[in-house]
Amino acid sequence: MLSTMQDVPLTVTRILEHGVLVHGRSRITTWTGEGEPQRRSFAEAGARAVQLANALRDDLGVRGDDRVATLMWNNAEHVEAYFAIPSMGAVLHTLNLRLPAEQLVWIVNHAADKVVIVNGSLLPLLAPLLDKLPTVEHVVISGPGDRSLLDGAHARVHEYEELIADKPKTYDWPELDERQAAAMCYTSGTTGDPKGVVYSHRSIYLHSMQVNMAESMGLTDQDTTLVVVPQFHVNAWGLPHATFMTGINMLMPDRFLQPAPLAEMIESERPTHAAAVPTIWQGLLAELTAKPRDVSSLTQVTIGGSACPPSLMTAFDELGMRVCHAWGMTETSPLGTIARPPAHAVGTDEELGYRLTQGRFPAGVEGRLTGPGGERLPWDGESAGELEVRGGWIAGAYYNGPDGEPLRPADKFSEDGWLKTGDVGTISPDGFLTLTDRAKDVIKSGGEWISSVDLENALMSHPDVAEAAVVAVPDEKWGERPLATVVLKEGATTDFASLRDFLAAEGRIAKWQLPERWTVIASVPKTSVGKFDKKVLRRQYAEGELD
Ligand code: ADP
Repeated sequence: MLSTMQDVPLTVTRILEHGVLVHGRSRITTWTGEGEPQRRSFAEAGARAVQLANALRDDLGVRGDDRVATLMWNNAEHVEAYFAIPSMGAVLHTLNLRLPAEQLVWIVNHAADKVVIVNGSLLPLLAPLLDKLPTVEHVVISGPGDRSLLDGAHARVHEYEELIADKPKTYDWPELDERQAAAMCYTSGTTGDPKGVVYSHRSIYLHSMQVNMAESMGLTDQDTTLVVVPQFHVNAWGLPHATFMTGINMLMPDRFLQPAPLAEMIESERPTHAAAVPTIWQGLLAELTAKPRDVSSLTQVTIGGSACPPSLMTAFDELGMRVCHAWGMTETSPLGTIARPPAHAVGTDEELGYRLTQGRFPAGVEGRLTGPGGERLPWDGESAGELEVRGGWIAGAYYNGPDGEPLRPADKFSEDGWLKTGDVGTISPDGFLTLTDRAKDVIKSGGEWISSVDLENALMSHPDVAEAAVVAVPDEKWGERPLATVVLKEGATTDFASLRDFLAAEGRIAKWQLPERWTVIASVPKTSVGKFDKKVLRRQYAEGELD
């Protein structure tokens, strides 16, 4: 028997219309680096999104599921593109501006992007690549930048503001199937070619509702969220969509992502919440230590993308910024788990331990652990295996292979359709996930596994250590052993012997896991989204650069 309920497609269009109608006074504030920030209400941004859709259709000929790419920082115009493109039925393709040029070229060609909307400040990145992007017919420029860089380009060049200026503020949005593609984002391709994840209207809608739940970010229109996590990386963790659902104000840093301007915008714009990867927060912490500021408005910080070091969590707690740790990936939209401690642990000695896990699965995500032989492992807090997930906002395939069919590589999808995350960990009987490593970063020493993350966290809790990354290096006797690369704080005097003693003390790290190989480096190399780039460290070691 079918239900008697209405079947209203869950689309990005509905999120846009709701945001404008019900939360029209909420604001997107974009940092400009000098003078007043740019301030735009949801009603204004929504109206401009409608104008952008009209321009894309009428002037640029965007039709059907044409791909419209963005090469942009976090700003109001990028939010407008986020809503205009999917609402008209086209596909928003966010380009990661920190990828190596050859990967960007590969990705644009693979997605066959027809239009690129670019921030003027990023023209030096786009212009030299255009010759290699035959599918790109139009480039739309937003914000200041040197237009002459595009002289002679094969694509037609437009100004964002001129393009939308006289366009109608209404659009007869198509009635879309909620399973249709709304947006796409490529994984950064640390191994092999990048892989395209294509989000549906439905997956974005459901994910946004989850982001807004009290057990997740749980913000309201009284909040302002500082969206540091880039819009080019997994839809800025779903925040632009989630905010239009509930009226949360957005503070957008544009290209000013360094610790000093971040501290300045927190002091002057007084956001209540912020979201970013740990490296951003490490930088902000150092900045606030060197130059204290009034950051008292910021009481909630969502950290994910890499494991949150305990030292970072406690340092932020002391500043009155309560950290909430979450896990996810491009393939999971990204919210996969979130670490809200259970009621019985709040206010007890157990609370911090729970908060440091990767957290629990929300109702829309199922998780399971698989052992090396493909066996299911129990949720006993001890059995470690690869995490597999499924759910309404989890990828079931990647964007097309050479035959035009979706890709389902066996190392990424199980036979019964679950996503193999490549992350290794345990799940406690009460459902808390603890990741010990990425499968490719685990150190396999004499048949036993050493968690690089545990070693890093222990090292970073030493007062003299600013950052630490641990990688597996070949070892004749043990197969692999850990190499500790350490960034010391300014003026630090500690040496390797005392760092080793520190790790061994108080049972922090088992004796057999203690690294024998150590090196001090100036900074840990980072990936395009600010995570420790262990691939580079392994290569540097192999080439003798880290001895
Ligand atoms: P990339 O592979 O380029 O880093 P993603 O952003 O999709 O692309 O990264 C997802 C991966 O980031 C996860 O598979 C996991 O290894 C890691 N990750 C994300 N959040 C956490 C977290 N809270 N703790 C530990 N690792 C995390």
